[in-house]
Amino acid sequence: MELRQLTKHIFYYPHQTETDRPMLAYIKGDKSSLAIDAGNSSDHVSEFYQALEAKNYKLPDLTIITHWHWDHTFGMHKVNGLTIANNTTDQILQMEKEKIKDEVYIKALKSENPFLAKEFSDGKTINIVSSDIQFKNELSLSLGNLTAKIFRITSPHSLDSNLIYIPEEKVLFLGDATSEDFENDGYMDQDKLKSLTAVIEQIDCKFCMLGHASPLQKDELVDYLKSIMS
Ligand SMILES: [Zn+2]
Repeated sequence: MELRQLTKHIFYYPHQTETDRPMLAYIKGDKSSLAIDAGNSSDHVSEFYQALEAKNYKLPDLTIITHWHWDHTFGMHKVNGLTIANNTTDQILQMEKEKIKDEVYIKALKSENPFLAKEFSDGKTINIVSSDIQFKNELSLSLGNLTAKIFRITSPHSLDSNLIYIPEEKVLFLGDATSEDFENDGYMDQDKLKSLTAVIEQIDCKFCMLGHASPLQKDELVDYLKSIMS
């Protein structure tokens, strides 16, 4: 698969449904480059990097993690440069790193999640690492004529969700923040959904990028979120 261009300095490697791989993004500042999410495995990272190399783009200097779920973090051990996560994401990864040492836990993960089982078939090992850089509530990265504004938000999907906003290109990355909580039988917390939608509405963005969808216009996403509110 090829890297796709969204705006002048923002590219993305599309999501892949076969093993639930999320979209990975590449923010190309004049000085540094930032990837969004680490992908679900070392194979996923390798494919993404091949797509970057095909365009002669340097590998990311930094990779920001949107939230702790496996499909966004199990490639972290393979990324180039440094990884960034909020302190809650990092704490969860520290715990998962310990849990994964137990074969029984790996078997349980695979039996609960056919996508994970498929991605890690053929004896591929799961390697979980914590992040290199942690922040609490917000972090701003100056990438060279391009800024990444990273901030935590309340999300119905996970307790550790970040949004990443690139004001110069009017693009907002949301990870899976607008989805229901799959760890809790797909429960959609309406209050959290409403507060998140209000945050999105206030941000001056043209595109909204979700982890497992094609690029959306802001209005498309906001209209959809309002349609599922009760
Ligand atoms: Zn998720």
